[in-house]
Amino acid sequence: MPQLSSRVQLFTDSVIRRMTRICNQYDAINLSQGFPDFPPPVALRERLAQVAADGPHQYAVTFGAPNFRAALAKKQGHFMGREIDPETEIVVTCGGTEAMMCAMMTICNPGDKVMVFSPFYENYGADAILSGAEPIYIPLVPPDFGFDVQLVGQGFRAGAKAIIVCNPSNPCGKVFTRQELMDICQLAVKYDAFVVTDEVYEHMVYAPAEHVYAAALPGMFDHVLTCNSLSKTYSITGWRLGYIVGPANVIEAARKVHDFLTVGAAAPLQEAAVTGLTMGDEYYKDLREMYTAKRDFFCDGLDRIGLKHNVPAGTYFVLVDIGEFLERPCFKDWTDLDFCVWMIKNVGVAAVPGSSFFREPVNHLIRLHFARGEEVLKEALDRLSRLPEAVAAQERACK
Ligand code: GLN
Repeated sequence: MPQLSSRVQLFTDSVIRRMTRICNQYDAINLSQGFPDFPPPVALRERLAQVAADGPHQYAVTFGAPNFRAALAKKQGHFMGREIDPETEIVVTCGGTEAMMCAMMTICNPGDKVMVFSPFYENYGADAILSGAEPIYIPLVPPDFGFDVQLVGQGFRAGAKAIIVCNPSNPCGKVFTRQELMDICQLAVKYDAFVVTDEVYEHMVYAPAEHVYAAALPGMFDHVLTCNSLSKTYSITGWRLGYIVGPANVIEAARKVHDFLTVGAAAPLQEAAVTGLTMGDEYYKDLREMYTAKRDFFCDGLDRIGLKHNVPAGTYFVLVDIGEFLERPCFKDWTDLDFCVWMIKNVGVAAVPGSSFFREPVNHLIRLHFARGEEVLKEALDRLSRLPEAVAAQERACK
């Protein structure tokens, strides 16, 4: 058997996506991989049906259909408070996943160092390996997930080419403050490096937190590659529509990478999604209110059950502390992954083990998401309320 590349030995499949497959196998409630169980806005679905009849059905322009890019530039420029040129400052990708991979391949040479906050969205680990970059991890320290800016300075002094900032942050729900972003950005400018942001949860930010766009900070546009997607904002994770916004010279290079990676995002879906991009401010306000209510409902439920958890300022993820269970003798050799698989089978709720997000040896957290309808969330909380009982039963079986 011929040898495979050494790079594929360096990472596993995505644990997030694996949990969904195991969850489906046991017909559990999926609070692992983050995607909504409710449909996209009706206007988008109607437009999609029309596009099925009218087209387009052939390739769009590789870096994005002109009308899609124009609508995107307008919507995003409005929120960022800076005009974006759709002709030169955007490349449309197949989801936020390709946006990040493409950004990394555009700016990194093999061996380049890139700073990544830990905990981090697991894709960045594979992105670094596939682009040849060497991660330097900067801890986000609970309970507030603050960080030591000196470490960021040190990373840049050690030659880091870029820093990845997931804001709002998956999985810890941190929303970076203006000051934190300014500190990071000033260092990036000083050391002539890039800030690569992942802002797919930009509209899921809960008061009093506010989303600040790093690219829109004074003097920063030339240093920031903003990776983003329509998945979360319009509940269309399966449409795989993402993009990078950045300075023209970088986007020109990113368009080449993207062209040879995937040629382009699906033309009919770009066409249909224009309907989402042209919706008014009310849509984003309603979305924020809906998710605020879900967050409060879910966190209150966890409190009633007595499970310890963080309260996210953004995103739809909550980290739940399972340390008290794993400390019991019966569970002492279990990993958090073992616990999540057991929880799918015995409690009927799927979560993602925290260890897939942390560089540090963290084994006591699991990530749940609340992008579910109220009935499903209620049922999930009901099942989770039986977690202590299921743990006790497991302990009895152990003896
Ligand atoms: N961002 C989502 C999560 O963290 C899933 C994204 C994906 O699987 N592509 O669960």
